[in-house]
Amino acid sequence: MTMERQVLLAHGGGGSLMGELIREVFHSRFNDPILAAADDSANLGALPGRAAFTTDAFVVDPIFFPGGDIGKLAVCGTVNDLAAQGAEPLFLSAAFVLEEGLPLADLERVVESMTSAAAEARVRIVAGDTKVVPRGKADKLFIATSGVGRIADGVSVSGSGVKPGDVLILTGPIGDHGIAVMLAREQMGFAAEVESDCAPLWDLVSTACFAGADLHAMRDPTRGGLAAAANEIARQSGVALELDEDSIPVRDSVRVACELLGLDPLYVANEGKMLLAVAPDSAEAVLSSLRKHPLGAQAAAIGRALSGPSGRVVLRTSLGTTRIIDLPPGEQLPRIC
Ligand code: MG
Repeated sequence: MTMERQVLLAHGGGGSLMGELIREVFHSRFNDPILAAADDSANLGALPGRAAFTTDAFVVDPIFFPGGDIGKLAVCGTVNDLAAQGAEPLFLSAAFVLEEGLPLADLERVVESMTSAAAEARVRIVAGDTKVVPRGKADKLFIATSGVGRIADGVSVSGSGVKPGDVLILTGPIGDHGIAVMLAREQMGFAAEVESDCAPLWDLVSTACFAGADLHAMRDPTRGGLAAAANEIARQSGVALELDEDSIPVRDSVRVACELLGLDPLYVANEGKMLLAVAPDSAEAVLSSLRKHPLGAQAAAIGRALSGPSGRVVLRTSLGTTRIIDLPPGEQLPRIC
């Protein structure tokens, strides 16, 4: 019988075991000359143009779920925050907090998944750190990623950029990620498989940025879902947003799971969607370029910006009534990303 290889406290101790872990698990997979230089910080050289910088921590439970895992999520989440700023992702750092006893095979699987997500997003992982905490002091594995990107020429987007009259465009159906993780966690024996939508979005949104569109704002509706993202940009921009329930795409399987779990899909997390606010005369062009991309095939215009009341988000329901969509008071689904 062979012993399962596990993360040991010594793997974070700064000695030879740590060196071995870094070389064999991380460097061999991330395979980047800047990372391999093993200096105290990554030498990125000169960055052309305007730079964007962002950071995130990932604590999703479970670490593996249909459609992804914590590693893919850590890469996509950070890359998508750059994309929301109109920035092409260039460099990532990744810091790992590992619980003693984590199977090394699980860590390797997560690192491999980060490697493929980074390749898909065409971003380089150039800096990293690893710490190990005793059993019970963390849950398996946490990852913090930071990212540097280059803001595309001529693009100027901000959560505060929404103007009255703007058309709100969503790049695809909502709720997939949150529901995939909830079902994986609850092991409910729910028949329909729901996969996380976790995906890097730069390639998709750059088609909208580069179409010469009058693009005002982007926000990826992650934690708190579309409801939180809409509320955030409405407040930042001092406008009201009106969403049309019938035009917001939701998969049937997600809708059914939401009903079973007592959740509103508007509040469920996404990891591969973008909400855009565009000038009305650009809306058709943006929609059609998004729909040409596999990740934007179901892109839809879902509402509009109004001059006020400032910060208010209203849903026009299928029944023709209106309902205020508030910012969720707390986290509806803890450890969803
Ligand atoms: Mg974001």
